[in-house]
Amino acid sequence: MASIELKNIAHQYPSEDKSGPYALSSLNELWQDGGAYALLGPSGCGKTTLLNIISGLLQPSEGRVLFDGVDVTDLSPEKRNIAQVFQFPVVYDTLTVAENLAFPLKNRGMAKDKISERVAEILSMLGLSDRANEKAHSLTADDKQKISLGRGLVRTDVKAILFDEPLTVIDPHLKWQLRTELKKIHQQFRHTMIYVTHDQTEALTFADKVIVMYGGSVLQIGTPEELFETPAHTFVGQFIGSPGMNILKANVDGALAIVDRIQVALPGNYRKIDDEVELGIRPEYISLSQTEGIQAETVSIDDVGKHIIVRCRLEHQIVSVIVPEGTSIPDKPRLVFAQDKINIYQNAVLVRPTG
Ligand code: ATP
Repeated sequence: MASIELKNIAHQYPSEDKSGPYALSSLNELWQDGGAYALLGPSGCGKTTLLNIISGLLQPSEGRVLFDGVDVTDLSPEKRNIAQVFQFPVVYDTLTVAENLAFPLKNRGMAKDKISERVAEILSMLGLSDRANEKAHSLTADDKQKISLGRGLVRTDVKAILFDEPLTVIDPHLKWQLRTELKKIHQQFRHTMIYVTHDQTEALTFADKVIVMYGGSVLQIGTPEELFETPAHTFVGQFIGSPGMNILKANVDGALAIVDRIQVALPGNYRKIDDEVELGIRPEYISLSQTEGIQAETVSIDDVGKHIIVRCRLEHQIVSVIVPEGTSIPDKPRLVFAQDKINIYQNAVLVRPTG
């Protein structure tokens, strides 16, 4: 396995307007050997472009890619020694399940008994042991994609395994099971894994570190907890979570913010900020009270089964609040913001308190 370093990577497709924005712009990253990373972001943010630059399917317009400190930018995907799993199954229909899994190992001249051992291991991991001798064409789309995953995981000598939205075609109930399985496989074998997805649940359950992208740039790299608690950018706050973080226009001076003419106590002291200032607080960290807090008005109530999402209006701005099932919700509740869970943003970027 290898560390992956991106040095000043930028990419513009030949057909793109030369004066327009790049598909990727000036990325400098160092991803650790053996890490499980997810590239997460909305459609068009550059995830696949970046993955293809790492795999060698695409030459970046600028910058270098290094595996374990060795420059591989000019090497083909085969020479980079990586495994890839794509969105749709790549299987040989005329071969059996076991033969499909054995294929990448045979190609590299591995001894027969070692191949059988490794194939049996992967079959068992994926719950396909009893179908080993069936021809792949008779399998469902789910099972075919499991074989694709298996082909990506079967070699132990690869530098990294790259996954491009590998669970898109998988049935929802199986998705959860395969995600958990992939996580276990990572913990056991410590391959360097990079997993592209636009699904936050997939990213947060699979990865140790999630790389949130937007508009061709990396906005934040963090553990799921860091992305939840201290999003570095308002986009990250709103993209992660359901509903995402409340981002409220505010004025900040010292340890106080003013939101819609209401004072909110902050977790620390901030210098006076004059530019575009926003206060971020997650719906999970706001509670309803009869006696204290900010006066609000209930706008809508959505019971989503595991909890209730209440939308409340302050003077002008709307705030989402998550409360437990069974909570009685007044027409005019008071809102209490958990002080230590408030983040402040200037021009969409997180500002740390000075003390
Ligand atoms: P998705 O989740 O929809 O696959 P993505 O985050 O993987 O999106 P990319 O496919 O990397 O994003 O696309 C990044 C940008 O580059 C987009 O603006 C896209 O339109 C553009 N782009 C991607 N491939 C090409 C191409 N072959 N030629 C021109 N522009 C492209």
